[in-house]
Amino acid sequence: MSRQFDIVIIGGGLVGVTMALALSQLNLNIALIEAKTEKRIQEPSLETRSLALSYGSAKILQGLGLWQFLQSQSTAIKHIHVSDRGHFGFARLNAEQSKTEALGYVIEIQALLAVLYQQLHSSRVKSFSQASLKHLQQSDDQVRLDIESAEGALSITSKLVLGADGAHSTVRQLLGINLEEHDYQQVAIASNIGLKRDHQHNAYERFTAEGPLALLPLSEQRMAMVWTVKKQHVQQILAQSDSDFLKSLQMAFGYRAGKFLAIGKRQTYPLKQLKVSSHYKGRVALIGNSAHSLHPVGGQGFNLSMRDIAALALLSLSSISL
Ligand SMILES: Cc1cc2nc3c(=O)[nH]c(=O)nc-3n(C[C@H](O)[C@H](O)[C@H](O)COP(=O)(O)OP(=O)(O)OC[C@H]3O[C@@H](n4cnc5c(N)ncnc54)[C@H](O)[C@@H]3O)c2cc1C
Repeated sequence: MSRQFDIVIIGGGLVGVTMALALSQLNLNIALIEAKTEKRIQEPSLETRSLALSYGSAKILQGLGLWQFLQSQSTAIKHIHVSDRGHFGFARLNAEQSKTEALGYVIEIQALLAVLYQQLHSSRVKSFSQASLKHLQQSDDQVRLDIESAEGALSITSKLVLGADGAHSTVRQLLGINLEEHDYQQVAIASNIGLKRDHQHNAYERFTAEGPLALLPLSEQRMAMVWTVKKQHVQQILAQSDSDFLKSLQMAFGYRAGKFLAIGKRQTYPLKQLKVSSHYKGRVALIGNSAHSLHPVGGQGFNLSMRDIAALALLSLSSISL
């Protein structure tokens, strides 16, 4: 089967699906190709990973008409406390001083994806799931994509292709774009914790001997935790029972957020910085983690991609002649 589109996005993760929705407002034929089955909607629990959205990202999402569906699922960050364990001094930021309603927002990734996919289904974007890019070939006026899907082989042509297929990007490999990698020799442990007292919309960043430890406010007296630890210690830390892990966490963080009572499943993310030698080749461009991956210390990966999305959508709206 052969099909023709104006823009094809490879990868339906956070960046690919947001990009598709941003472009869906144009009068163009757009397709989204995602290798996995669609993510399932989950109830808030102790098991999911969360994302800090900057105030700027929330404004971009508002401009795209998506924030109205996301605001009720997000928790506002009204105060940020940054400290260095074992040292005097700390920094405090607050929304009131910045004259904004929030410094940023925290949202569970499953909730964010559920809303984005819901909007995608009511948009004009043609979405293919369980469909993987295997090969691409460019000519002067189009790109041919060979896709392997649950329904068999697909041949697609498009005037423009966006590779949003993550850190191990097939698009990047097929384009032969060089990659500079830096292994931080650190692993991020992410989980949600239950608190004894309300977080009062505080977010914390604490630099510990292992690495930075971030706590972000969530609904129902919960906080999202990301603790970066040295690679050589991760197995030992993960082998701890939940109660021993909570004690280590409490010792590293202290009691500024009160007592930690419960912890969800711990998920690990080995940390690498990725930089590409070029963000595009011919009619194909890279966005999101396929173009740049960075340390989660500032919670900026998706926020940076939101700026890519805004810039590309604006460019397309104002000028592009495909
Ligand atoms: C511990 C941790 C905490 C973080 N916290 C924050 C934060 O607070 N704020 C923030 O802004 N960022 C944060 N980030 C970064 C953020 O999670 C990433 O920037 C973001 O998820 C990248 O999304 P993506 O869509 O580019 O990539 P991915 O999520 O990797 O999506 C890529 C998609 O492409 C699909 N795919 C791959 N190959 C193919 C193929 N050949 N064909 C079709 N589909 C394919 C995959 O199945 C996948 O769905 C954090 C990261 C980590 C590790």
